Amino acid sequence: MSEGLKSCPMCGGKASFNTTTYAPRKKPNAWFADGTPVTVAHAVNCQTCGVNNKGILGGYQTQRQAAEKWNTRAGEEA
Ligand SMILES: [Zn+2]
Repeated sequence: MSEGLKSCPMCGGKASFNTTTYAPRKKPNAWFADGTPVTVAHAVNCQTCGVNNKGILGGYQTQRQAAEKWNTRAGEEA
C-alpha cells in the first residue's frame, strides 16, 4: 500500500500510510474542508524518523490526498 509514496523529505526513509480512527462523537470537534466530521483520517509517516503529515486534523480525508500532500512536500526544495 505504499504505492506512489516518495521517500521521507527529512531523512530519506521509507514512507507508509497511517490511518487514525476517532471514536464517534455526538458533537464532532473537527471537520474536513467539505464539512464532513473527521472520523477517519489518512496520513503518511516515515518509518525511520517518524515525521508525518497528520497536521491539525490528524490527516486527510482520503489516502490519495495524504499521498499527494506528502509527495508535494517531499518534492519541495528548501
Ligand atoms: Zn524520515
